[in-house]
Amino acid sequence: MTTQLAPAPAPASDTTARRDHIYPTLTAAQIARLAAHGRRRRVEPGEVLMPAGEPVTRLFVVLEGRVEGVRPSATGDALVVSLDPGMFTGEVTMLSGRHGLAQIRAASAGEVIEVGRDDLLALIQADGELNEIFMRAFILRRVELINRGVGDVVVLGSTHCQGTLRIREFLTRNGHPYTMVDLDNDAGVEELLGRFQVSAADVPVVICRGDVVLRNPSPQQIADALGFNDTIDQTQVRDLVIVGAGPAGLAAAVYGASEGLDVLVVESTAPGGQAGSSSRIENYLGFPAGIGGLELASRAASQAQKFGAQLMVGTGVSRLARGHTPYALEIGDGHRLPARAVIIASGAEYRRLQIDNLAQFEGAGVYYAAMFMEAQLCTGEEVVVVGGGNSAGQAAVFLAQSARRVHMVIRSDGLADTMSRYLIRRIEDHPAIVRHAHTEIVSLEGNGHLERVSWRDNQTGRLDKQAIRHVFTMTGAVPSTHWLGSCLALDDKGFIKTGPDLLPEDLATARWPLARAPHLLETSRPGVFAIGDVRSGSLKRVASAVGEGSIAIAAVHQVLHE
Ligand SMILES: Cc1cc2nc3c(=O)[nH]c(=O)nc-3n(C[C@H](O)[C@H](O)[C@H](O)COP(=O)(O)OP(=O)(O)OC[C@H]3O[C@@H](n4cnc5c(N)ncnc54)[C@H](O)[C@@H]3O)c2cc1C
Repeated sequence: MTTQLAPAPAPASDTTARRDHIYPTLTAAQIARLAAHGRRRRVEPGEVLMPAGEPVTRLFVVLEGRVEGVRPSATGDALVVSLDPGMFTGEVTMLSGRHGLAQIRAASAGEVIEVGRDDLLALIQADGELNEIFMRAFILRRVELINRGVGDVVVLGSTHCQGTLRIREFLTRNGHPYTMVDLDNDAGVEELLGRFQVSAADVPVVICRGDVVLRNPSPQQIADALGFNDTIDQTQVRDLVIVGAGPAGLAAAVYGASEGLDVLVVESTAPGGQAGSSSRIENYLGFPAGIGGLELASRAASQAQKFGAQLMVGTGVSRLARGHTPYALEIGDGHRLPARAVIIASGAEYRRLQIDNLAQFEGAGVYYAAMFMEAQLCTGEEVVVVGGGNSAGQAAVFLAQSARRVHMVIRSDGLADTMSRYLIRRIEDHPAIVRHAHTEIVSLEGNGHLERVSWRDNQTGRLDKQAIRHVFTMTGAVPSTHWLGSCLALDDKGFIKTGPDLLPEDLATARWPLARAPHLLETSRPGVFAIGDVRSGSLKRVASAVGEGSIAIAAVHQVLHE
């Protein structure tokens, strides 16, 4: 039995144009160019061309007949898409090589062109017109799958639970569609839990591909169950391994891979880094209306993968082993990734509030990102944003669209000098934003979820306790360098020193072995670079992180030829 999955949102006037972008019909000339890189073949009705849940290795262009994408399920197959002559299969898994979400099969007898994934990637790098058609279609198709909830993952959890938010963020930021079953609101949940032999105490529970049941899983367990990293050969000696897929790491991956380097990016959670947690970045060149951090990240990740870079997610680098090239980067499960050059782009993490019971409310009322998902949780309520810098300002303005009131709790005497003028104006003009200068949070209370927040005015000593259930902390960042131990020269705040910032004594301690001085972004070890927010003295901005990503690649080429 085949059922039709929920259709995409109701058509608007531009829907036809959008559908043409998502499911374009190729011209005869475009098909001829693809045919030169693939093979024509006949297909039989019902023939499975690509099973669901296996790494995507081929794309099909329909020449005659009809090909469909279906999601097999216990209750029958659900039709995801039906493709007529001139149309082609595939979405972003074609770029990443990850497991396909739908089964591709022939709906009738016909003819297709079958193109291998590597051949397709080579073709779209060389053919500008096909590049635009395929990249746009792949990205839009994934957006459509997410919007329609077409996926192989079900999350059973509660919107008030820390673990559930963590898992939803991991899937969302990795662009993986999932269905959420809210145990607080959904009827028939008991039956569902019983079917998978899990109890309410096991939540959040993640059901992958209908059979793998994970109880409160780590990012790595989810990545493993969904085969996110299955096609990555961990023994291969790469030209370049990049640690971190924030803007800096992704930029280095795009420039490195597009210039012919064999690149692997290792990311402990999901692409995007801090920028990925921004609701809207308005000062990045080329986006006059601003761009959501998630969108910027997913576009950059697709761009890097299009050029052949590989992206390993859900597992962090835990150590840079001593010794020289090839370097060995140890990852979570103890494996060592060999690399001829290394770029460290591990960025920074939010500073945490110094409050004893903070951990109890992280994800259950205390958040480090203000995006759509978090905004939904506090619609119509009062919220607190802690901090007076750019990220706090952005969060306050964004949350004020849906929250009843936004209290900005600022320890200094007002908004930071470094905050962009446009944000200061919006905050000052917004009737729902209240600023509390010289103030800090002193206690959090609640049972399971945050219920009350107290803050103190440090000038008057006055204490204020409010029934507020949501606190967004945006109070600056500390470098993610704990995993490096003492193997590189760091400044007194823990950021990595590079190039001219490295003093003779730093190089002596590190036993710098070369006659030449370190390159601009090179650390105290030759061939190991640091870029973006993790680098001592860097400007903490998306544009500078991206710029450093491109500059570092020029130096990587030099050291690979030394
Ligand atoms: C909410 C918010 C809003 C912002 N808005 C703006 C803005 O509007 N304009 C602007 O210019 N800047 C903005 N910024 C600053 C900007 O996002 C950062 O400067 C930029 O993201 C730095 O990029 P990065 O790649 O150096 O580091 P990060 O973005 O910090 O990325 C580092 C990545 O490395 C990963 N990682 C860390 N350790 C490891 C490890 N051991 N192994 C593997 N992976 C690891 C992390 O998970 C992360 O994904 C904002 C920041 C925030 C938090």
